[in-house]
Amino acid sequence: MTAPSVEQLVEKMNELTDKPLLDAAGIRRQIEARDLQIANPYAKDAQVQGIRNARRYIGDRLGRVATPHRILDPAAGPLIGVKLHILTRKTLGGIQTDLDSRALGTDGKPVEGLYAAGEVAGFGGGGVHGYNALEGTFLGGCLFSGRAAGRAAAKQTA
Ligand SMILES: Cc1cc2nc3c(=O)[nH]c(=O)nc-3n(C[C@H](O)[C@H](O)[C@H](O)COP(=O)(O)OP(=O)(O)OC[C@H]3O[C@@H](n4cnc5c(N)ncnc54)[C@H](O)[C@@H]3O)c2cc1C
Repeated sequence: MTAPSVEQLVEKMNELTDKPLLDAAGIRRQIEARDLQIANPYAKDAQVQGIRNARRYIGDRLGRVATPHRILDPAAGPLIGVKLHILTRKTLGGIQTDLDSRALGTDGKPVEGLYAAGEVAGFGGGGVHGYNALEGTFLGGCLFSGRAAGRAAAKQTA
């Protein structure tokens, strides 16, 4: 939803819930603090610094259509409130397997005929690519563990 001012926007958003969950004064305080940082060429705000750093790359500077501006700049209005929904993007864990992607039971032994590959087996981050969930490294591990599972299953049934 949109509105010309923080107070009007918050009022509209609060109408969506049983109780008014948002405090307009608190939100205005945060936005004004952030806007001060945008106006400051030597901003201490890590997010503003990050945006400026990223925009030193010419592709991003030209391709991003919204240039950084004060949120409360009337020329950039109206203000927009967006409802966000939480979802699980990565599991970072799951079913323990051996190198043949055979699922291991709580006793640490393979469960007969059960294989696990991909995110559910902890390949959405970490695994073959180290301990951290580095962006772009998930599909490789998912495919690799899927291949291992497929090969092991084929060998078992052969
Ligand atoms: C927004 C987003 C961006 C991403 N970008 C990248 C990227 O750039 N590079 C990269 O490497 N990785 C990326 N990833 C991670 C990568 O896409 C996933 O790790 C990978 O697709 C997981 O594959 P998967 O087969 O293990 O699981 P999934 O693709 O989640 O497959 C699981 C399947 O099981 C089905 N299922 C669930 N429950 C049941 C049930 N009870 N019965 C039958 N079927 C069921 C689901 O419907 C689903 O189709 C991204 C992930 C997201 C969400």
